[in-house]
This record gives sequence, structure tokens and C-alpha cells, in this order.
Amino acid sequence: MSEAAELSRAASIEAPAIVLDKVNKWYGTLHVLRDVSMTVAQKERVVVCGPSGSGKSTMIRCINRLESHQEGRILVDGTELTDDLRALDTIRREVGMVFQSFNLFPHLTILENCTLAPIWVRKMPKNDAEELAMNYLTRVKIPEQAKKYPGQLSGGQQQRVAIARALCMKPKIMLFDEPTSALDPEMIKEVLDTMIELAESGMTMVCVTHEMGFARRVADRVVFMDRGEIVESGTPVRMFEDPQTDRLKLFLSQIL
Ligand code: ADP
Ligand code: MG
Repeated sequence: MSEAAELSRAASIEAPAIVLDKVNKWYGTLHVLRDVSMTVAQKERVVVCGPSGSGKSTMIRCINRLESHQEGRILVDGTELTDDLRALDTIRREVGMVFQSFNLFPHLTILENCTLAPIWVRKMPKNDAEELAMNYLTRVKIPEQAKKYPGQLSGGQQQRVAIARALCMKPKIMLFDEPTSALDPEMIKEVLDTMIELAESGMTMVCVTHEMGFARRVADRVVFMDRGEIVESGTPVRMFEDPQTDRLKLFLSQIL
């Protein structure tokens, strides 16, 4: 390998998982992301919190290019997010996403939900895709549900399927947008336990959640957003025990 190639290979190994550099986004005239800058290292676990409407989902969706930003730069694993279709393809392969509302395909079985993208996007042979899916369904502790349809499962089980489905694409980064907020209290723990296991396996994760126990347990860093800005960030202990801004103090007093 040439020296230049070696250097660029080393640079790509060292590239942070995610970089946001002065990102701005508007919906029409509504300024929803204001100079948002954040770097997520490989294997880092970041929890994003903040009041409703503060731009958390928008930020997460920009990282996955479900939304586009108007100013600033976003790089995922060293690839800048642009309208270039190859960049988009890279991002979609490397980044898995789990939504509040599960978003499973209701007319497909659990197994089919998990094998669809590996077969059609990754061109994986069906048998291999099914084996992979069963591995992940076992990992999220519901292999016995494989032949059922989403409507036959509880919310907690459906969300674990959504996590398994995302993992079947072998993402390097997982994004979660309030994965437990649509769940009944008794189902929140089973989903958080799955996420904790994933975090402990070394997955790079950005999780929008108000589950502060989860944040304390696995987050390397907590990022607090309000009105489109990152107001404050730090370790969970520092953020929860020694908030520096009135906005974070107020937010914590409302959720804890
Ligand atoms: P959060 O996830 O923190 O609750 P969002 O990112 O969903 O916040 O929303 C940020 C702001 O952008 C809110 O004022 C919301 O109403 C607005 N918004 C979100 N999505 C859209 C959209 N598709 N079109 C117009 N406004 C939107
Ligand atoms: Mg949201």
C-alpha cells in the first residue's frame, strides 16, 4: 500500500463516527437547528435530551439523512452527507435507526421484517439472511416470535424486533429516537435492557431518551438541547448533579 493510501486508511480508522459542524436547519421560516456542533467518537454512547420541540428528532434525522440540513456539515464515519447518492447509500448501510413508533411492516412476519433489507439491499442469500435474523432475534430474546406478525406482539416485543431488524444490516452506528416513550411502563425495561446490552457490546449509539437511569448506566456523554441549540453537554453525573444552566436545571426539575 502506498504511503498516501496508508495515511488515508489510518485517517478513516481514526475518523469520528459522527461530526456535526455548525449545522443549521429551517422548516420554512422555523429555525429548528441553530449552529449545532457535536462530535461522537467511535464506540461512544451519547444520550440526547431536552424539551419537546427542541430539535432532537430533527438532529437525529439529519444524521441519517432522513432530513437534510441547509448550513454546516455533517460527516458520518468520515463521509460527508451531501446529495451524492453514493454518500447516501453509505450512510443508510452504516447507520441503523429505531423510532418511537417501531415502524415494522404489518403485513410481513417478524422474520420477514428482519430479512427484507439484508436480502434486497445487501443482496444476501435468503437462507443466510434468515440465519442472521434468527441470531439477532435470539439476542433480543424473542426467537420464538419469528413466524408471527407485528400485530400479534406486545409493544415491547415489537420494539425489540425493530432493534433486531436494524442490527441485521450490520450498522456501525445506531440511532434511537425515544424508543421507549410509546411503551407501557412494564415494557420499558425489556427494551432498555436490550439497549444496555448493545451499548456494552461496543456499539456507537446516539439515543434520544429521557430515561435517566439508562443515561447514567451507559452514556459516556449527555447532550441537552433546547430551542434548536445544544445548551450543555457533559458526563451523566456532571449533567444531573451539577447542571450549569438555568435551562437544564428547569428541564431536570420537570423530568426527575
Ligand atoms: P423534538 O424531537 O425535540 O421534540 P423536533 O425535532 O421533532 O423536536 O421538532 C423541532 C421543531 O420543528 C418543532 O417546533 C416541530 O414542530 C418542528 N418540526 C418538526 N418536524 C417538522 C416538519 N416536518 N415540518 C415542519 N416543522 C417541523
Ligand atoms: Mg422527537
